[in-house]
Amino acid sequence: MTMCDNTTTMSSCIISQNDFLVFFNIEDKDIETFDIHHQKDGVYIEVTLKKKPHQCPVCLNMTDRVKDYSVKHINHSILTNKKCIINYRARRYRCPRCHKTFMESNPFTVAGSRISLATVYNILEDLRKPSMTFRDVAERYHVSQTTAAHVFDSFVSISRRPLPEYLLIDEVYKCYY
Ligand SMILES: [Zn+2]
Repeated sequence: MTMCDNTTTMSSCIISQNDFLVFFNIEDKDIETFDIHHQKDGVYIEVTLKKKPHQCPVCLNMTDRVKDYSVKHINHSILTNKKCIINYRARRYRCPRCHKTFMESNPFTVAGSRISLATVYNILEDLRKPSMTFRDVAERYHVSQTTAAHVFDSFVSISRRPLPEYLLIDEVYKCYY
């Protein structure tokens, strides 16, 4: 299911900024900074999203007041079989009304996880094959066996609710069509 398989050369695994935007269904105007490094051990992408008004999850006030930033290292795998790390500089907002802080919304991560939706999808696809073990997928997608098992366990509960499952499929289809 990846865009370049084991038989292609490394040069066809180059990711452009445009590939990245198309894949995550975001536009140039959503991006504040973007940088990509193709290194011997993998592809490294640095990204910051544009500041924009967010709704406070506590009091529902709209705000764009920034509290701080933290870099999240996201393991991403759909564009290439090489290791691909997105260093996402995530912005935290502070609500001026109730003073709660919260992270901006982003298209890269699955809630509470450091791997991307696409990686989750790939892991689940592979685990459907009876011959694939947690160890196999862990190696293939550069995650720990614990993470692979966690993804699988999470899917069991996600799959009982139809909406997230369709979102997963939709997200990946955007990449191919
Ligand atoms: Zn608030």
